[in-house]
Amino acid sequence: MSEYINLQKDVWRGLTGDDAQLPHAMLFVGKEGVGKRELAEVLAARLLCESKPAPHAPACGACASCQMWAAGTHPDYRLVQPEAESESDEGEGEATPGEKKKASKQIRIQQIREIEAFFYIGSHRGGARVCLIDPAESMNAVTANSLLKILEEPTASFYFIMISHRWHGLLPTLISRSRQVMFSPPSDADANAWLEQNKLGSAKSWLPFYGHAPLALAQAHQRGQLKALESLLADLLAPQDPLAQAAKWEAHVKTDGAMSMEVLVTTVQKWLLDLGLVAQGAAPRYFPHKNNALDALARKLSILLLMEAQKQVAQIRRLASHPLNARLFLEDLCVRAFRPLKNS
Ligand SMILES: [Zn+2]
Repeated sequence: MSEYINLQKDVWRGLTGDDAQLPHAMLFVGKEGVGKRELAEVLAARLLCESKPAPHAPACGACASCQMWAAGTHPDYRLVQPEAESESDEGEGEATPGEKKKASKQIRIQQIREIEAFFYIGSHRGGARVCLIDPAESMNAVTANSLLKILEEPTASFYFIMISHRWHGLLPTLISRSRQVMFSPPSDADANAWLEQNKLGSAKSWLPFYGHAPLALAQAHQRGQLKALESLLADLLAPQDPLAQAAKWEAHVKTDGAMSMEVLVTTVQKWLLDLGLVAQGAAPRYFPHKNNALDALARKLSILLLMEAQKQVAQIRRLASHPLNARLFLEDLCVRAFRPLKNS
């Protein structure tokens, strides 16, 4: 558990100094994969722990409450998330698109009603109660308003922890009723230490690609995405004929579930951005470990054509999720993206 504390040391210290000062409604904000959900769970376990942990210490891990927590059966804890989320926890990639549609991506009003009942029924163990909502943006206005009614009630040792990756669209009242806790990506040193600890040290060169969010990188690794990306990047650093490239990538996208069309286009965009940076003498942002190969390519390109290619790829990007014809889409992408290199 403490491995997540190390990724967000400052946030943890800020939240665990004096429990009497801890706000009852917290909104954890920050980009995906920086450890918001994980730290929320470590904090929940600490709040529920019956051994009264010292300031900044995690839950004891041994008391009756901690044992129930570990077994996933703590009666004073609730996790609220969209149905689609809890299903994908079990077997991602197995459901067909038709089946996936059935599971809601929204938190349903019924789930909030259950929280209301949980709120009014009182504590089972006589201690704190915790409700985790992940992510808050999956509540629509009606659902969020019914949650607000609960947040407005006076609370004794009841804690709401809401998690949000895209908090700008949340109801202003939801934001004003809770304490915002900002999560930044951890330092590269802390992220690398975490990756090493989780036997992912060899993947650390991909950290910039994933916005320095180590948990996003770990998840991508688990899905087999890194291998597909390695191959894609190798293609981009040694570009061939656009049509031949499109044919190869079509096979990638079709046979390799780890590589979606969106990820492919995003990678091409990041490669174009890095080429632009290197061409202007700056350091690459997403692929610093490929600085030399990028530099060799950048020497051969026209910066004007590169800027045009960046614009065009950004324009066709929104078609990536539903291209009418995958091959034609990829041919179009490759022709546009490789044009700045044409005269090399
Ligand atoms: Zn404990």
